[in-house]
Amino acid sequence: MDPIKDIKKSPTPRKSARLITCPNCGNDSDFFEVADGVILTTHYVQNPDSSFTQKGDESQILGEIRFFCGECNTDLSQFHQRFLEMLF
Ligand SMILES: [Zn+2]
Repeated sequence: MDPIKDIKKSPTPRKSARLITCPNCGNDSDFFEVADGVILTTHYVQNPDSSFTQKGDESQILGEIRFFCGECNTDLSQFHQRFLEMLF
């Protein structure tokens, strides 16, 4: 009998996770992403019962995307690339 046979214990690769932390206030949980010059284009199809179904979102961002601390609004755009890599 091996009671832990079915428990797979794989080493967690998140050990050295680098949290994005606001250098100003230390916030590491709340952030804003702000995009300038956005054209929102949404494709809808009308159904026979006169309702609409959204088919797609073809929004374009023309301007800059900035990244801010959600607590003190410090510009954290230097971390934006890392934010995108960690966005799931
Ligand atoms: Zn902050």
